[in-house]
Amino acid sequence: MSATQVTLLESVKSFLARAHGLYIDGRWQASDAAARLTVFNPADGKAISSSADASPGDVDRAVSSAWRAFSARVWADMLPAIRERILLRFADLVEQNAEELAQLETLEQGKSINISRAFELGCTLNWMRYTAGLTTKISGRTLGLSIPLPEGARYQAWTRKEPVGVVAGIVPWNFPLLIGIWKVMPALAAGCSIVVKPSETTPLTLLRVAELATEAGVPDGVFNVVTGRGAVCGAALVNHPQVAKVSFTGSTATGKAIARSAADRLTRVTLELGGKNPAIVLKDADPAQVVEGLMTGSFLNQGQVCAASSRIYIEAPLFESLTSAFEQAVKGLKVGAGMDSAMHINPLVSAMQQKKVSAFLEEARAQNAELLSGDAGPNNGGYYIAPTLVVNPDPALRLVREEVFGPVVNLVRVADAEEALRLANDTEYGLTASVWTQNVGKALDYSARLEAGTVWVNTHTLIDPNLPFGGMKQSGTGRDFGPDWLDAYCEEKSVCVRY
Ligand code: NDP
Repeated sequence: MSATQVTLLESVKSFLARAHGLYIDGRWQASDAAARLTVFNPADGKAISSSADASPGDVDRAVSSAWRAFSARVWADMLPAIRERILLRFADLVEQNAEELAQLETLEQGKSINISRAFELGCTLNWMRYTAGLTTKISGRTLGLSIPLPEGARYQAWTRKEPVGVVAGIVPWNFPLLIGIWKVMPALAAGCSIVVKPSETTPLTLLRVAELATEAGVPDGVFNVVTGRGAVCGAALVNHPQVAKVSFTGSTATGKAIARSAADRLTRVTLELGGKNPAIVLKDADPAQVVEGLMTGSFLNQGQVCAASSRIYIEAPLFESLTSAFEQAVKGLKVGAGMDSAMHINPLVSAMQQKKVSAFLEEARAQNAELLSGDAGPNNGGYYIAPTLVVNPDPALRLVREEVFGPVVNLVRVADAEEALRLANDTEYGLTASVWTQNVGKALDYSARLEAGTVWVNTHTLIDPNLPFGGMKQSGTGRDFGPDWLDAYCEEKSVCVRY
């Protein structure tokens, strides 16, 4: 074993060997369904564990548990400072088990152990503590009224923020722990109960975290995890009549299906969907900063990031030199298992995702697109795709318009910044964008004119718990993070008193 190969913790080995059940009512429960779902290691395609394939009956049990816990009001009516302390203890327990969680994340998802440790766990802890702090900041407003009747009557009015009830959280496979925490923490901080469903591809880290929530003092039934297939378990969860709010991250197609069915019951939804995110590089940009920033922006987690820069528009004077700098950087990337800390690019999450990304590249090859690829990775049954630049792709290619969600980036020469802006906004998506320039006036101008929920200047994919995040256009509705995050998990009640 090389020095850069991670040694598995004993606790990771024993967690993988468990016959995982569903986490309902503060304890492990068996599923009604006998069938199991296999969890594969993307680095070699071998089975490493399995999870329960929850039935609609199991989901009903989990939602009923969450509903009972919410109705008992123990969590919802707890003094905010005590709720905050329990959530901070929950964060401490996650920190104490960070290496175990990082290894599980890499084993089931494929990403580099360096990213699991520094980004996934690092961000998870930042977000947990930020959100725990919001528990004690929930506040309404006092309002002046102008009701003229009856003559002489006086009124005082204010608003209260009250938890919505049972939340359903649907979590995708690209950042199973971090995005899971983005569902769980605001729900718990607001005083709601939650049933969360990880992707069937990556169920392990959230199952581990559920036990830690109970250990921290979160009351039984307030935090439940069901594992299973999206079309069965996920659909039963989001359609359950006792669910008051759905928070979903995933594909635009599934998000729209959830929104359509939620409309029947007027269930609140927050949707964080796909992106086809542009980066505009103006001719006065700092080339070294561009290459460093957009290599990370494009290839972090093998490009399986909704915010990833996947279309880079470069003003003509910089195009040739930047293209060769990107090519050199891509060819210098080592491709291999995430558990080898010396590797830069790791496998995709699943055989299905590998097939999907390969199909985009095959179509581009068949149309004689110019592809500049790096190392293809080991040929060992793992789900590898070579990091690839597509130079000036034909606009008719699917990879120009659709979300690839792989290590594939388009480099496009533009005559000037206005052409770049027009092409950047010519998409149905509107999640993120970046502009690269040393000119403050241009940075302000383009950040206002780019159609995206987040615009970065001279960086890409940097997120912060205090910075609201979400999509315009087909990239979703609602915003996560920031000081107002809990509003989406609360009803605003108006109280009007005559005195
Ligand atoms: P999906 O949108 O199908 O999956 C996301 C989550 O939704 C998973 O937990 C999935 O469960 C669940 N789900 C699936 N169907 C339903 C349903 N009917 N009701 C409730 N929940 C459901 O994405 P895919 O995994 O199929 O990925 C396809 C593409 O989506 C990717 O290539 C990428 O382009 C995009 N994507 C975007 C993400 C983002 O961060 N915005 C994240 C993931 C994907 P299960 O996995 O068990 O089926």
